Amino acid sequence: SMGVDSFVSWLRDVAGSLHANAAYLTELDSAIGDADHGANLDRGFQAVVEVLDGTEFGSVDELLKKAGMTLVSKVGGASGPLYGTFFLRFGTALAGVELTPEALGKGLHAGVEGVLARGKAELGDKTMYDAWAPALSAYDDAVAGGADLGTALNAAAEAAAKGRDGTVPMVARKGRASYLGERSAGHQDPGATSTTLILESAARTLS
Ligand code: ADP
Ligand code: MG
Ligand code: MG
Repeated sequence: SMGVDSFVSWLRDVAGSLHANAAYLTELDSAIGDADHGANLDRGFQAVVEVLDGTEFGSVDELLKKAGMTLVSKVGGASGPLYGTFFLRFGTALAGVELTPEALGKGLHAGVEGVLARGKAELGDKTMYDAWAPALSAYDDAVAGGADLGTALNAAAEAAAKGRDGTVPMVARKGRASYLGERSAGHQDPGATSTTLILESAARTLS
């Protein structure tokens, strides 16, 4: 289902997953960044959970916008503004809209367009976009083929995981990892990894 409660469950599940994977994400970031990606997202989503604990949300768009604003204010570094913008734009796109799989897809696209507007990443730059882009394509294809929400989100999560794995040989062209040049190759991108966790959580909770 796609009511407010489902989206609250999603955000709580994301917080749990990022907490459980915080050390792993930080380890990935220690190889090609500054070893804070897990800590950044764990802190940000714990703040989101605190908001959820203290607030009743009347609509999905308000919930997602608040999550986005919380991430922007609580997470420093590249990923805070990027994920914050994702949730802000995702929520904005769902305002006043009937929540169908198609509408959710448009919302996801709007969120990822926000990530691109902020970060200017292109496919192959070894960023979270290398997980988002195939996930959106797989989601669109599934919905166009008549799949239900759960099936479409599972397809998106699987495509994100492939995209994440595809970042390993890439040379980073955005973010801190780009400072390493060719030495960034051979390591999995932390942000593509957290994006995959977020989509795997969506497939568990929103279907
Ligand atoms: P910081 O690099 O500031 O310490 P994080 O470690 O939290 O921030 O996040 C790093 C992740 O952010 C990278 O693994 C990458 O996926 C993502 N990222 C960095 N710059 C960009 C960008 N310009 N566009 C998209 N994603 C980016
Ligand atoms: Mg970092
Ligand atoms: Mg940092």
